[in-house]
Amino acid sequence: MSDVEHLLVRAARAAAEHRMTVGEHSVTPDRSPEDIRAAFAGPLPDGPTSPDDVLTRLLQAAEGAITGTVGPRYFGFVIGGALPAASAAEVLTTGWDQPAYNEVLSPAAGAAERAAGTWAKELLGLPSESSVAFVTGAQAGNTVGLAIGRNEVLARLGHDVARDGLHGAPRVRVVAGEERHATVDRALRLLGMGTAGIAPVRADGNGAIDVEHLDQVLAENPGVPTIVCLQAGNVNTGACDDFERAVPLARRHDAWVHVDGAFGLWAAASPRHEHLTRGVGLADSWGTDAHKWLNVPYDSGLAFCRDAQAHAAAMAYVAAYLTGSGGTDHVLGDVTPESSRRARGFGVWAALQELGRSGVADLVDRCCAHAARMADLLTAGGATIHNEVVLNQVLVGFDDLSRTDAVVEAVQRDGTCWLGATTWQGKRLIRISVSNWTTTEADIDRSADAILRAAAAVGAGREGSAEER
Ligand SMILES: *Cc1c(COP(=O)(O)O)cnc(C)c1O
Repeated sequence: MSDVEHLLVRAARAAAEHRMTVGEHSVTPDRSPEDIRAAFAGPLPDGPTSPDDVLTRLLQAAEGAITGTVGPRYFGFVIGGALPAASAAEVLTTGWDQPAYNEVLSPAAGAAERAAGTWAKELLGLPSESSVAFVTGAQAGNTVGLAIGRNEVLARLGHDVARDGLHGAPRVRVVAGEERHATVDRALRLLGMGTAGIAPVRADGNGAIDVEHLDQVLAENPGVPTIVCLQAGNVNTGACDDFERAVPLARRHDAWVHVDGAFGLWAAASPRHEHLTRGVGLADSWGTDAHKWLNVPYDSGLAFCRDAQAHAAAMAYVAAYLTGSGGTDHVLGDVTPESSRRARGFGVWAALQELGRSGVADLVDRCCAHAARMADLLTAGGATIHNEVVLNQVLVGFDDLSRTDAVVEAVQRDGTCWLGATTWQGKRLIRISVSNWTTTEADIDRSADAILRAAAAVGAGREGSAEER
């Protein structure tokens, strides 16, 4: 065996070993952060180390230091697992090491992106003429969509952002729900639009926008360049905006409509849940993740735009005002903010191939059923569920919400499962997200049990400690 063959097989075997055993270990690393840092630290080596020794040292340094995010009982943030074929495709992607800038560099990467992008549009109910960009995640997807929207609403007033930037441009009004994701605000900061111009729309108790209020907000400043940013899947509750009513309203005001659909957009792929995203295909641009609900390894996201020409004009490597082209004859790198980048199409192509239409629907339905089961078990154990469990997200509180962080810490220390805390409409709550293809009912039952045990222990600790009162 050649050195490189030996090394890659060894790495793949160690990765497979992690996958095979991740469900058996504590989800939380059992070593301290200081210990882990020390294992990786040390002086820069004066000279070379053999690749085999490097791999040995990496495996040693990381031993017991890998959080079980890919495992069946990781419920923090919104974290997908990694499907087998998608994982294998990512191993190959590294082996092939193709930059997906254009199809001269990598015809296969380009073909995989085109095919996977077409499949994704079909599954998500997006217009077939839309352009598709393979990006790092929904943060990048939202940034791409909002950048195109910014350029388009200003172009309608005769302002060319690609040439003049925002110098001399009118302020763009961004109308967005008050429960929007923080990545929307960061995108606006990055894009020079700032956050002061956000016109917030009230949300209902589950985090979806109040469409009557959207109507009022839009009517307040008629005629200003406007982007409406909607959401499919609130990160805390899973709530989706009412696209069927909101998009036509935005259209009446000549607004660009972008949808942050990081994970919730995938509800569109399930006949049982697609009612939540009905009308989402009416928008102009969409950002979503493949590394969340589609269970593609990190990092993987998608940006779509109904107007492929506007997309390429906003993102093109060489701006249209320099080439005189309309930007329709775009290469892969003309729709993303990056130039050279990883060939992310292979992983998405493999995931969609592995699951097929029914497999994606089953994955969505299964995660939602698990979330509902978790909510039922915790309710039966005395917890209160603080959201309407419409999708895969559950917000949980026990009697004394000031103890939420202590309960979360106790759960993390126990290691059966992992979840985090969030602040939702002024309340400190536990947030549970079920997004992994490997999670079973038994995992939900074990985890609910661990959460209830942790809550009881934290509650008992309070009764027992006199000095706290
Ligand atoms: C996770 C998430 C994002 C950001 O996605 P990244 O993959 O971290 O870039 C944006 N919006 C929503 C609603 C999310 O849940």
